[in-house]
Amino acid sequence: MTLLLPTSTAGSLPKPSWLAEPEKIWSPWQLDGKELHQAKQDALLVSLQEQVRAGVDIVSDGEQTRQHFVTTFIEHLDGVDFNQRETVRIRNRYDASVPTVVGAVSRQKPVFVEDAKFLRQHTDKPIKWALPGPMTMIDTLYDNHYKSREKLAWEFATILNQEAKELEAAGVDIIQFDEPAFNVFFDDVNDWGIATLERAIEGLKCETAVHICYGYGIKANNDWKKTLGSEWRQYEKAFPKLQQSKIDIVSLECQNSRVPMDLIELIRGKKVMVGAIDVATNDIETPEAVADTLRKALQFVDADKLYPSTNCGMAPLSRQVAKGKLQALSAGADIVRQELVG
Ligand SMILES: [Zn+2]
Repeated sequence: MTLLLPTSTAGSLPKPSWLAEPEKIWSPWQLDGKELHQAKQDALLVSLQEQVRAGVDIVSDGEQTRQHFVTTFIEHLDGVDFNQRETVRIRNRYDASVPTVVGAVSRQKPVFVEDAKFLRQHTDKPIKWALPGPMTMIDTLYDNHYKSREKLAWEFATILNQEAKELEAAGVDIIQFDEPAFNVFFDDVNDWGIATLERAIEGLKCETAVHICYGYGIKANNDWKKTLGSEWRQYEKAFPKLQQSKIDIVSLECQNSRVPMDLIELIRGKKVMVGAIDVATNDIETPEAVADTLRKALQFVDADKLYPSTNCGMAPLSRQVAKGKLQALSAGADIVRQELVG
């Protein structure tokens, strides 16, 4: 990337109300069959246009074709029964009714590759594509087959690697794995979490990223954050090993978070997607507030490795608010860019 401080989003963007009920996660589709397929493509183009208009440099599909960042991927796999549901605790935080792993998991056909090709046809800008990470996938399931979190994570890593290689061939520039679970299961992260992530990126020539956040701005996550005390040091646990890993980019939550910015020093050498937009509030940041966060991060990240971004996905926000936040992100990045080039 030759542009200084290229902006991007961490993941999802709001869907139009004709596609799915707005301001909700796991929102049901408003259409089905061929009409739904067409509507998803139309929404993807709207989302792309909104990113471009807001000045976002690295664009995405806004996750318009998926209902949820983890479950939609799993729905396309064999070995998981969505009718057989069990209640489990997600990331030690809230109970959810989840599908059951009933046999060997496998990917019979690509999940997002056609969507990625479609996006590639419609933009010359760099594209980032998000996939769930292995550890976050296993945390959203009840496993009645492998009976081992680690074994299942390795299986998913192999499947993700197949998908990632095809996304790369479709013209995706950066493949991102969402691993909010890295902020919760520290021993597993270090024992096998980062290793399975490296299995998922094996053989890729495109850039790779891992997104580690404190979750969408939903009540369960906001309540959990209140229990974390005055300093959030969760990143400290995974960073030393991540710094040694083959992952190119680390995507973090920095705006309005209690993460001490100096923790970023622990991943010195990596590119850092600095979350400078809070997705848990409808207040739109001023460009100056965004710039301020980026300046603080610049103490610990070299300028050519800093990628201004959002804390997390914005699917639960209104389109208007999300648009305002994207514009603030671009304007804030521009302020700091001017300062850097003098
Ligand atoms: Zn996130």
